[in-house]
Amino acid sequence: MSQSAPLVIVGTGLAGYNLAKEIRKLDDDRELLLVTADDGRFYSKPLLSTGFAKAKEAHELAMQDAVTMAEQLNARILTHTQVSAIDPERRVLQLGENEQPYSELVLAVGAEPRRLPWTDALGERLLSINDLLDYGRFRSALAGKRSVLIIGAGLIGCEFANDLVAGGFQVTVVASDPYLMPQLIPEPVAAAVQAELEMLGVEFHLGCAIESVLEQGEGISVRLDNGIQIAADQALSAIGLAPRLTLAEQAGLQIGRGIVVDRRLATSQAHIYALGDCAEVHGLNLMYVMPLMTAARALAKTLCGTDHELSYPAMPVMVKTPACPLVVAPPLTAESGHWTTSGSGSDLQALFHDEQGRLHGFALTGSRVAEKLKLSRELPGWLLATPT
Ligand code: FAD
Repeated sequence: MSQSAPLVIVGTGLAGYNLAKEIRKLDDDRELLLVTADDGRFYSKPLLSTGFAKAKEAHELAMQDAVTMAEQLNARILTHTQVSAIDPERRVLQLGENEQPYSELVLAVGAEPRRLPWTDALGERLLSINDLLDYGRFRSALAGKRSVLIIGAGLIGCEFANDLVAGGFQVTVVASDPYLMPQLIPEPVAAAVQAELEMLGVEFHLGCAIESVLEQGEGISVRLDNGIQIAADQALSAIGLAPRLTLAEQAGLQIGRGIVVDRRLATSQAHIYALGDCAEVHGLNLMYVMPLMTAARALAKTLCGTDHELSYPAMPVMVKTPACPLVVAPPLTAESGHWTTSGSGSDLQALFHDEQGRLHGFALTGSRVAEKLKLSRELPGWLLATPT
């Protein structure tokens, strides 16, 4: 590694770009190189699940192209460039035939959609949306179609159900989960969200497995284990995301649910850091925007010479189901406990307490969303600062 090698960030999602922005607030001159497998457009990923109601094309969701980002960040950006290997000993990245040295390396490689067994066979008929290119591809696939089958009833599946139905499509949701978003919210809250989505016309088949997905005409036909057969013009897979680990794994970095990093965002190999959807910080793999923004600010300080340890407050997530506004603070700090739900109709407050009666999480719907700030203040931080 030459002394003049740049600081390299792999990935230009919200994690990679926000880190670069934070670095530039502290250091105008450091040589910065961003490498990305995609086209490097800067966009806000949460907007992908609100784009159909607003009839937005992919290019309308992009805020800047890679050339503009490079100018603004005073950085070089290599687009359409896959990092295929890391050599931590020599501090070198493999980019196709070429080698790229680094002084410090940050992995911001995100997560990728879990795949259903029928994904390859069904081509454009069964897609997932995890970036701007996926969004554009899905929009093209939808041209002239009316009905969409969404597989998965987690946060992303529910958001797309609301957005697509608001965009004028007939939407059916199929999931093996017994109720919506079971990893995040208790059943009564899920029932309120489901009822409001049903009022808009979304049809749900929950608690059932898919036995087969076949081509039918221009669309697909799905057979469930309860014997029900559903036809749709287009399918969207929303069965979850898994951190991208291959690069890190092959380079010998410690892997858990994500790339394992300490509170300085440092991996198990010297001079390599990770943040965003791909990283597991102190056991937490949080695939949301607020944690990665907090991590970007902390890591920028460390990379610019002031060692900084990350801490997380509780960071509630707004779920974009406007049919039934929902905010969730999952009870990450509790080993065990229980939900208690109060309220009526679609205005619910659910609180998660541990055995000692301490509040660890909440879910609020409808008018109760207004209680978010007050309740957030009562929650323990997700990652507390180390006492000095
Ligand atoms: P990504 O955006 O996935 O970026 C990864 C980058 O790494 C890409 O540039 C990719 O090209 C690059 N890359 C990967 N491998 C390589 C390689 N080998 N070589 C070169 N480049 C590589 N969170 C919220 O908090 N609120 C929300 O409302 C919300 N809504 C969401 C809606 C949707 C539809 C989705 C999918 C997610 C949503 N999230 C939301 C989650 C949030 O958007 C993500 O946590 C965040 O955008 C992840 O950013 P990232 O930079 O870590 O990963």
